Amino acid sequence: MKRLLVICLLSVVGLAQERPKLVVGIVVDQMKMEYLYRFSNDFSENGFKRLMNQGYTFHNAHYNYMPTYTAPGHASVYTGTTPSVHGIVGNEWFNKATSKELYCTDDEAVTLLGNGVESEGKMSPKNLQATTITDELKLATNFTGKVIGISIKDRGAILPAGHFADWAFWYSKTGEFVSSTYYGKELPKWAIQFNAEKNYLKYIDKGWDLLKPKETYNESLTDNNPYEGKLFKKTPFFPYNLKEMYEANDAGVLRTSPYGNNLLVDFAKKTIENENLGKDNITDFLAVSFSSTDYIGHVLGPRSIELQDTYLRLDETIADFLTYLDKTVGKGNYLVFLTADHAGAENVTYLKDNKYNVSNLNSKNIEQTIKEYTEQTFGENLLLNYSNYNIFIDKTKAKQKALDIQVVKSGIKNFLLTQDYIKNVYTEEQIQQSSPTDMYLQAIARGYDPKQNGELIMLYKPGYVEYSSTGTTHGSPYSYDTHVPVLFYGWNIPKGESFVKKYITQIAPTLAQKLKLTMPNGTDCQVLEEVLIK
Ligand code: ZN
Ligand code: ZN
Ligand code: ZN
Repeated sequence: MKRLLVICLLSVVGLAQERPKLVVGIVVDQMKMEYLYRFSNDFSENGFKRLMNQGYTFHNAHYNYMPTYTAPGHASVYTGTTPSVHGIVGNEWFNKATSKELYCTDDEAVTLLGNGVESEGKMSPKNLQATTITDELKLATNFTGKVIGISIKDRGAILPAGHFADWAFWYSKTGEFVSSTYYGKELPKWAIQFNAEKNYLKYIDKGWDLLKPKETYNESLTDNNPYEGKLFKKTPFFPYNLKEMYEANDAGVLRTSPYGNNLLVDFAKKTIENENLGKDNITDFLAVSFSSTDYIGHVLGPRSIELQDTYLRLDETIADFLTYLDKTVGKGNYLVFLTADHAGAENVTYLKDNKYNVSNLNSKNIEQTIKEYTEQTFGENLLLNYSNYNIFIDKTKAKQKALDIQVVKSGIKNFLLTQDYIKNVYTEEQIQQSSPTDMYLQAIARGYDPKQNGELIMLYKPGYVEYSSTGTTHGSPYSYDTHVPVLFYGWNIPKGESFVKKYITQIAPTLAQKLKLTMPNGTDCQVLEEVLIK
């Protein structure tokens, strides 16, 4: 009888809603898994390595759709599904209904809170169609658990925080953190206070020089190499006079310096302190997205010492933030996961100079080529829009000319297949077939929303990138864009590592299971069992 009671109690304990006091979701914009290996010797023990050595590392985690951009990335991590379901099909995309560009977090119904540019505040998660893990936490706690998203980028704060968030804050080029009336009537007093302190100036005044002795950076190419772009019209080498850049531009320059990440952690600490995150037993969620890594990666490329320096500094920033969480929330009381919204390509010119036959592509030229083809073949420009690998055909014009849309589609497809940079072109019918077999077609299908995407989707050959000859970008379904870190650390997370292929869409359902919440509504519920077993 006694034993039975014990068993009953145990099983009740196992089913009870045990949860951490705080979940901290960290997204590092454009972080390749490879950086954790390449810069490992230069990292401290208390930053990335603390998460890896004392937590669980998924070495082989990937995005499973195209396009691998920031907004779809953040949306997919937090909804546990892909653009075909959550509807965030790009950072901005051609809206078929209005024939205008739509930004992922555009919302005309709301206005700016704080001191920024009006347009910076017309933002909300309105276009996100699925629930996030943060939404499910709100529902599960009858809205008593707090959810806040913060980032330098608006979309990096808004999409992770979901529909029911208490707040999302993002950085304005005025140097202040702003928000929108979607979240409240005015900024919280503590945020107004933080902005009034003009904390960004202390970083601008510091300037940007190397954190460590120059020889530390032997994992990168030498400074001022031909693959680096200009940083605010300045030749790309150390040290950077941020004050001069700030005076010639605005406080937005902080984004393209490692200090964007530092300022974000300063703001994160203020958020935790003033919103009492992790103070009681009702779980709160802070979603933090570091954007400066992406800005710097785009301009200077993955092999610049600027990028390496940014990661060495971020390592210290994360170490400092973890120590802060130990003190304020308590070791073992918080759960952290760290991932990226996509990875990034090598600089194409660098590959070419080393004899790999690839090229960088100009989207305007591609657009022009398609236009000219349709004019010559069908007597009229039938390209309505070309963006994010999507080709939108002008169906009205085609109809007026009594052209069969299928003929136009296959004409464009066959023409593009003659181009050197094209791997394949898929029609909407191919993409929407019930079970595509080709792995790239599967990735394209997961990124395809028939109500929002084009009639044809292009896939470039591996290594070909639609970008300038310097710096880099991302967007493809190739492994250099899909392979990202997935680290779990803290509350009830076992130590360990896995080399089995996993998908970033598994993060949200895993958290739902771990916290005993309803799964986000669009996820296929595939979990990472490794971190569920205590
Ligand atoms: Zn990004
Ligand atoms: Zn440089
Ligand atoms: Zn980017």
